[in-house]
Amino acid sequence: MSQHPQTKVIRTGVARTNQMEHSSPLFLTSSFCFDNAEEMRATFADETDNNIYSRFSNPSVKEFTDRVVVLEGAEEGYATASGMSAIFASFMALLKTGDHLISCNAIFGSTHTIITKFLSRYGIEYTYVPATNTDDWEKAVRPNTKMLYLETPTNPGLDIIDLEFAGKFAKKHHLILNVDNCFATPVCQRPIDFGADLVVHSATKWMDGQGRMLGGVVVGKSELIHDIYLFCRSTGPALSPFNAWVLSKSLETLDVRMERHASNALHIAKSLESHPGISWLKYPYLKSHPQHNIAVKQMKNGGGIVCFELKGGLEAGRNFLNNLKMLSLTANLGDTKSIASHPASTTHAKLSEKERQDVNITPGLIRISVGLEHADDVLADIKQALDKA
Ligand SMILES: *Cc1c(COP(=O)(O)O)cnc(C)c1O
Repeated sequence: MSQHPQTKVIRTGVARTNQMEHSSPLFLTSSFCFDNAEEMRATFADETDNNIYSRFSNPSVKEFTDRVVVLEGAEEGYATASGMSAIFASFMALLKTGDHLISCNAIFGSTHTIITKFLSRYGIEYTYVPATNTDDWEKAVRPNTKMLYLETPTNPGLDIIDLEFAGKFAKKHHLILNVDNCFATPVCQRPIDFGADLVVHSATKWMDGQGRMLGGVVVGKSELIHDIYLFCRSTGPALSPFNAWVLSKSLETLDVRMERHASNALHIAKSLESHPGISWLKYPYLKSHPQHNIAVKQMKNGGGIVCFELKGGLEAGRNFLNNLKMLSLTANLGDTKSIASHPASTTHAKLSEKERQDVNITPGLIRISVGLEHADDVLADIKQALDKA
């Protein structure tokens, strides 16, 4: 009988030395030695699996990568120093001058910057399509379209893109389907099961889950990962072995942590939905979510993020943040500590009013990353701040 991902992730790739450690040792080394010239020659000629240099491979990094591969149901992967370097590598290794990229319009801010400010410099064209109006996607396809890039749930608006539709669409048009699965995590949603070719992650968020470090990873089909590996081994965005060692251990508890983040988030979403200070609230596992049916089809739970719109707009957003007593005001998400953010005045402040509108970032939008505190304590803090907003 094939084992469940929860088992496989814990039992995958424990790299022991001859000391027989039960917990994986940390391979904090930049290079690896050889017994003799012949072994060295064979390794450089790709005839062995030996490590050479930690920019190329390292056992601690391999363990983390292999565990994400197992969770996502992928073939291979490569881990990077941050989520952005994984996303950047997936573009640079697979797209070239003259290629066209289709991306959903609601994407992480720095991804938007890469696509509009950097890829365009190298003659890589792009078209943004609406995340939820998939009827418009067909019009965006050109003869030179090479990749479809998606994020679901989207940040910070929590729109849900139908992955089954996206998988079929990419197949029909021979596009590489590349999905940022950071918000859901692989214990909640597996894009590869719906036809994705690549999955990228910021491991900085839920995967670490404790706000300690940056990391990223891209997993998917071997032939694509091979090209990404060749790009990365020469350009150097490798994940630090220390970070990989911490992140790898974090993955052992990802499933139980995400279940609690999600049950806390659902409780908070239900309790706030009809609050008089809020004009709407979105959480994928609430029936009121516009794409609720898609969410339950492709996600095991609703995840740890809740967002809502304050009736009082921009001013109320600032007041809300100022009146929180416990929740942290910080740019991160996916921590044990609950975090509140107000995108219009922070992460998306550089966008024009019109650009913000296009990706549904309204003036009073608040995003809560629900932590592992008792849900009632998180709720109480949000409620008292709402009363004063
Ligand atoms: C944070 C984030 C990223 C970028 O990851 P870093 O680790 O900060 O580089 C990319 N996509 C999403 C959805 C994110 O939340």
